[in-house]
Amino acid sequence: MTAVADLMDYAEVVERYDPVLGLEVHVELNTNTKMFCGCANEFGGEPNTHVCPTCLGLPGALPVLNGKGVESAIRIGLALNCEIAEWCRFARKNYFYPDMPKNFQTSQYDEPIAFNGYLDVTLDDGEVVRVEIERAHMEEDTGKSLHVGGATGRIHGADYSLLDYNRAGVPLIEIVTKPITGTGSRAPEVARAYVSTLRDLLRALDVSDVRMDQGSLRCDANVSLMPRGATEFGTRTETKNVNSLRSVERAVRYEMTRQAAVLADGGKIKQETRHFQEADGTTSSGRTKETAEDYRYFPEPDLVPIAPSREWVEQLRATLPELPSERRKRIQAEWSLSDEALRDLLNVGAVDLVAATVEAGASPNEARGWWVSTLAQEANSRGVELADLPITPKQVAEVIALVSSGELTNKLAKEVVQGVLAGEGEPREVVEKRGLKVVSDDSALLAAVDEALAAQPDIADKIRGGKVQAAGAIVGAVMKATKGQADAKRVRELIIERVGA
Ligand code: ADP
Ligand code: MG
Ligand code: ZN
Repeated sequence: MTAVADLMDYAEVVERYDPVLGLEVHVELNTNTKMFCGCANEFGGEPNTHVCPTCLGLPGALPVLNGKGVESAIRIGLALNCEIAEWCRFARKNYFYPDMPKNFQTSQYDEPIAFNGYLDVTLDDGEVVRVEIERAHMEEDTGKSLHVGGATGRIHGADYSLLDYNRAGVPLIEIVTKPITGTGSRAPEVARAYVSTLRDLLRALDVSDVRMDQGSLRCDANVSLMPRGATEFGTRTETKNVNSLRSVERAVRYEMTRQAAVLADGGKIKQETRHFQEADGTTSSGRTKETAEDYRYFPEPDLVPIAPSREWVEQLRATLPELPSERRKRIQAEWSLSDEALRDLLNVGAVDLVAATVEAGASPNEARGWWVSTLAQEANSRGVELADLPITPKQVAEVIALVSSGELTNKLAKEVVQGVLAGEGEPREVVEKRGLKVVSDDSALLAAVDEALAAQPDIADKIRGGKVQAAGAIVGAVMKATKGQADAKRVRELIIERVGA
């Protein structure tokens, strides 16, 4: 384990060095079946139940390409502004690992299906960084090893290992950036924002469930440093399988402070893979990095080349949904949001929820108000995502409608929302059960108004004398008497009427 003394203070790191990043994201496609066989592509399941001779690599078994997988790959490429190959092939990447029964991974090497693209990434303060995409290629996932008996869950110190091939052959797209330079002190933030933006994009394309916690979206972070102002890149390390957005940011930052300490001490960075430790935010040495030659890549002889017609590519381009970045721009204009309001909305993850609430009939402003304040606080205190609160956009829209029609005051509406969150039913049921209806019967209100005026004759006089602001005290008394179930605006009207001001 690295001691803290082996790290350089971050401010000094960015003063002395320029970081270079390279991000490799693996995304598991949500096709029904695996990439080269008909086995179910499903997360989990009893070990070794989604397997067949092909994905187990049994002698003589032949792969058949999943057309839907190719379609998703092309759509991802197009969404990333890539060129789509006119002709490309799969390649065998040869290495031995117990979770890979064929002893090679069917991948793409120098002929990726998509290449030369970019993704614009917006940072928290609104700055836009264009991340260039080197390539997006198709490959297959490996199985999973489970090391039993050790303290770390790794193979070292384990008593025995178990293998589950359910994941072997699941379609993967690997998206690789070109080296990302010039981000300086913002490198960790850029890395995180890139993965986050890419995740939103893939979700909008509906090609994957993009669950970092379940491994359907995985990121390897390459980091190197060069002395400030230098042009030749330093040696990189590759931190593997960083499985949350926060970890991406922490891993990059940690590597920067670690590498800087080594370099400043006259040392050399070893090109290696490293593992990120969630618990303390450090990385530790993995294996020495293979070079491409080690893998003995060669074209896959059992699969025909892929030559997507330009016609098909254009058909697929037409299926691209509105991309998250465009959607944000449109929503900002349609809802007349300031940059700040938009950012708040994004930060609490409320865009879709507000949009659905507007769809259900609410005004954008009111819908936004509920989700960004009351409900965001509720989600925060419960420690859940906003979308996981037990209230639907339709229910929020209904509460808003009850306020607009005067059936509920804002204060009562909050109680109704609490009731819905507590599982007491639909908004209307909560209103009934809790007896929350506004007292809209004028005669009941008038009685309360008269009582309040009689109790404070000096104020009644003031109002009569033209000091209409003084009515506030009477409104307060009436609200109290009706336990907040009166419409304050109507009460005020009745008071003025009553004193004849
Ligand atoms: P590998 O097979 O080693 O994973 P890839 O080409 O798939 O290599 O990915 C390497 C990633 O690292 C790419 O995103 C690339 O742009 C980036 N990269 C290359 N050189 C450097 C460097 N010196 N410092 C940081 N990143 C780098
Ligand atoms: Mg790679
Ligand atoms: Zn199979």
